[in-house]
Amino acid sequence: MNTLKPQKPKIARSRFAIILAASAAAACFLAGEPARTADVPFGPGNPFYAQSTLPFQAPPFDKIKDSDYQPAIEAGMAEQRKEIEAIANNPAAPTFENTLVAMEKSGRLLDRAMNTFGAVSQANLDAALQKVKDIEAPKLAAHEDAIFLNSRLFRRVAAIYNQRGSLKLDAESQRLLDFYYKKFVHAGANLSDADKTRLKKLNEEDSTLSNTFTTKLLAATKDGAYASMDEGPLAGLSQEQLAAASQAAKDRKQKGYVIPLQNTTQQPDLSFLSNRSTRQKLFENSWNRAEHGGADDTRATISRLAQLRAEKARLLGFPNFAAWELEDQMAKTPETALKFMNALVPGATAKANSEAKDIQALIDEQKGGFQLQPWDWNFYSEEIRKKKYDFDEAQVETYLELDDVLENGVFYAANQLYGLTFKERKDIPLYNPDVRVFEVFDADGKPLALWYGDYFKRDNKNGGAWMDNFVARSKLLGTLPVVYNVANFTKPAPGQPALLSFDDVTGMFHEFGHALHGMFANTEYPSLAGTAVARDFVEFPSQFNEHWASYPAVFNHYAKNYKTGAPMPAVLAAKIKKSETFNQGYALTELVAAAELDMQWHTLGADAPLQNPDTFEKAALEKTHLALSYVPPRYRSSYFAHIWSEGYDAGYYAYLWSEMLDDDAFQWFEDHGGLTRANGDRFRQMVLSRGNTEDLPKMYAAWLGAEPSIEPMLKYRGLAPAGASK
Ligand SMILES: [Zn+2]
Repeated sequence: MNTLKPQKPKIARSRFAIILAASAAAACFLAGEPARTADVPFGPGNPFYAQSTLPFQAPPFDKIKDSDYQPAIEAGMAEQRKEIEAIANNPAAPTFENTLVAMEKSGRLLDRAMNTFGAVSQANLDAALQKVKDIEAPKLAAHEDAIFLNSRLFRRVAAIYNQRGSLKLDAESQRLLDFYYKKFVHAGANLSDADKTRLKKLNEEDSTLSNTFTTKLLAATKDGAYASMDEGPLAGLSQEQLAAASQAAKDRKQKGYVIPLQNTTQQPDLSFLSNRSTRQKLFENSWNRAEHGGADDTRATISRLAQLRAEKARLLGFPNFAAWELEDQMAKTPETALKFMNALVPGATAKANSEAKDIQALIDEQKGGFQLQPWDWNFYSEEIRKKKYDFDEAQVETYLELDDVLENGVFYAANQLYGLTFKERKDIPLYNPDVRVFEVFDADGKPLALWYGDYFKRDNKNGGAWMDNFVARSKLLGTLPVVYNVANFTKPAPGQPALLSFDDVTGMFHEFGHALHGMFANTEYPSLAGTAVARDFVEFPSQFNEHWASYPAVFNHYAKNYKTGAPMPAVLAAKIKKSETFNQGYALTELVAAAELDMQWHTLGADAPLQNPDTFEKAALEKTHLALSYVPPRYRSSYFAHIWSEGYDAGYYAYLWSEMLDDDAFQWFEDHGGLTRANGDRFRQMVLSRGNTEDLPKMYAAWLGAEPSIEPMLKYRGLAPAGASK
């Protein structure tokens, strides 16, 4: 029942890495500069000046104005810079307390301002906030560098690290020391001055080329749109889709119809276009978008990016870039990640080949007279899906009303598993009237957290769905979690119910899984709390929580007709469940192919010559047995933005890795009685409450009693029957 939607997870960031935008490298040069003072003076009149006096230190949105953010962020950086300088220059010998604990306590003002700013600038943006974001993003990146490239600070951390055997630190403190030391070293703190200079140059080139890639790809994707003067070639599209294509043409001041490209290889309209040559044209536009040899061709850019990343890894003492990137991940090495992906290939491709046979049979039955090509897949697959599993979305949604799903589904599952109860609070100020706030109580009745739900689409909200903190849990700082979930569901007319698709419902459970990870955090140090974990672990609690959406005892508790309260008819519920494993051979193969491409590019050694992306890609797919003519990778190298410009370099496998963990974990629940308090409490105690306080593979193995296995993942995707061969 996995709805794996590869996208950048928008979840809690590191305490020091604030806005994702600007590159670390370009920022180094700003590190020493004093903060430019903002126009508005910062003082006690600013709502971020002191800790919030609201329950749980919730942000005082009734007092916060747009003009308050910038002065608070600037003052927050200046304050933390002072705090860090004081730690680095402390005349006393370095101790865990006067260095690491002091670092954890630093930056309170900046956290208050940035946690709130991060929320509103993503979910309630306006021109004033956009301006603040543009100005502050590079300064915040520079701020982080000023901390992690501070050599005096690093010397203190290293001195403590070198005495770690004799310090008698508790396990979490030991982990914090390890975390900071490795973070400094990872960033190059141990290099000679000459090598540091070389590293900065490479980082700078990386960020410049990433930017170049983004700019080229944006133009290439725009130019790759399919255009037609008349409706004829667009047969098969619905009136709504045609209207959208006509609007897209108008927006570009063109006549006729335009189908803009999405970032993936396959395009949504390919499921409906009945004219085969239109399909081929649209597909080829997508596939070749960045390979036309002109100014927007990205191939030279990515070849050099792969090469310079390998050089950077060599400088830092690693055989390749992936080895450097994966050092602090759960998988730890590219070999482990590759072994995992390779193990998925036979099951995924066998299923894809059998799906291809079904499609070819349908083509032949209709006397198509051609061999299946990638541009045919979605069209015929949609026909098969309709025959086998079609259900009326409009009928389904009458059983999926937002408040019911939230209170009788999402909250109910959390109650059954963890004993949580929820009470809506109307006295907490909000940044938008659509937002709802609930106080969350633990099984013993004690207040646990504050949770905000902001579910409706607005024009000033980013697309997608995400979770983050207003306040992170920390015993050291005496804070309880204040977390929020954001989504983009259609807002109903006043007085009408908000009806959801089953995908929306799964999305709600997903984001609430992140929220539970944040709310159950029971850690001393904010840097190790809740969702502040490795990239290949962070989607595990959220994807795990998705499983409860279709778990019968939960599903039957919320899926009721919003008018009559009648349960969803069993036939309809069964169709939803069955449709989840449809086309999974294709879906998994295209994902593994993209993940393999990423890993092959990033395991090139520094001595390897510049690669020709086309021959490299072809060889990489053949070598990994993923060269299926009708299943292209989800992203081609030349438009794979995740790995060249969005921070998922050597990290695309993380989506699949997290899926292995969540399916494996859910299988454990199924084997141990399913939805019970005992199971939930054990999972909370051994995993969800621990954040990043332990070595992740050890934490996982201690909970499961074994290493994670890929069989449940194959089973839930419908690729291998339960109990099939290893
Ligand atoms: Zn997520």
